[in-house]
Amino acid sequence: MAILTRILELAPRRLPGSPGYEEAARACLEEMRRLGLRTWTEPAVVPHWVRGGPAEAVMIGPMSGDRRPLEAAALGLSEPTPPEGLEAPVLEARSFEELSALGERARGAIIFFNHPMDRTKMETFSAYGEAAIFRTRGASEAARLGAVAVLVRSLTLRLDNAPHTGMVAYDPAHPRIPAAAVSTASAEALSARLKAGPVLRLRLRWDCRNEPPSKAPIVVGQWDGTERPGEIILMAGHLDSWDLGPGAHDDGAGCAQAMEAIRILKVLDLKPRRSLRVVLYPDEEYGASAGRAYAASTARKGETILAAMESDRGGFLPIGFGLGSAESFAKLKVWEPLLRACGIEWVRPGGGGSDIGPLAERGTVTMSYIPDSQRYFDVHHSALDVLASVHPREIELGAIVQAVMAYVLAQEGI
Ligand SMILES: [Zn+2]
Repeated sequence: MAILTRILELAPRRLPGSPGYEEAARACLEEMRRLGLRTWTEPAVVPHWVRGGPAEAVMIGPMSGDRRPLEAAALGLSEPTPPEGLEAPVLEARSFEELSALGERARGAIIFFNHPMDRTKMETFSAYGEAAIFRTRGASEAARLGAVAVLVRSLTLRLDNAPHTGMVAYDPAHPRIPAAAVSTASAEALSARLKAGPVLRLRLRWDCRNEPPSKAPIVVGQWDGTERPGEIILMAGHLDSWDLGPGAHDDGAGCAQAMEAIRILKVLDLKPRRSLRVVLYPDEEYGASAGRAYAASTARKGETILAAMESDRGGFLPIGFGLGSAESFAKLKVWEPLLRACGIEWVRPGGGGSDIGPLAERGTVTMSYIPDSQRYFDVHHSALDVLASVHPREIELGAIVQAVMAYVLAQEGI
């Protein structure tokens, strides 16, 4: 918790390629040196997007003076609206089928994607994955029909006033129309107004901009193994985060836990036989470009990264591990009783993360650390993802089980 607190104090805003990210990289290098790790950085080139001022989104009814603001925030990598803003009729779609059914009516309109996350799914990441396609692909699907902008219901199971941002992915075949998230409370209000009377217009204005790609360091710290230093066990998190809040859970927690796991092993005076390497990536949120760059870098030539474990699901109560392929899972499953003694409820085959995924192509066994997911999307990508939303005991329990897993791998290999 102390490491997370220091990172967030020194670098509360860490968009890829921003000055805040640079500050975070410096703070983590300092932290790693304090832990006695050998540190270095590796270059990455990342998208560079600047949010600008707050987004404006206003419902305009047919009566004069009938205006009501909505809570909105531009999606990451969105294009801006014209400087004076834009005004157009708004149409609601809960699915891409409903969007298609709008046909010609969508031309010149603002499309409001109102697809709530499915709260009947126990695994909230699968509910997120289903709903996130409207945030990533919605703008291009709407632009294909001639729409001028999109608003997307925030991806959270709660009803709140905080817009939850995230990346929009434009299809080069269609115009890049402006895209923003609206809070779930605003989405409910907008939907209710559309049901009450369909003649509703929206006025939208945001002034974000896409800049040329910029350089951002991948931050690395290594504890060399005593017997097989050339065999590496990698622990990963992503140091970039959305700018609406300080990204305490996403993924400040994952970065802090990797370093905290090292601290725990040092305090216990353990000496890993293989090397433990912490890697903090500078671009997960814009599409994980840094993970691909790291795996493909010439610096990987001759390196043996046996296993890579990523923590990118928040600092909540530990419950499981996703462990590599079916073959590596069989080898790792023997450690399940030890993990159970540390509070882990299950291990299952399959695991990885956006940043470490590309290492699997080089033969690395990729693994995910999995905490309880029930509250993650309450704060995810929003102004609510603050230090106060992190429970100190839960994040520390997560660091402990990651330390256990890292040490087992360092001693036993895979
Ligand atoms: Zn993340």
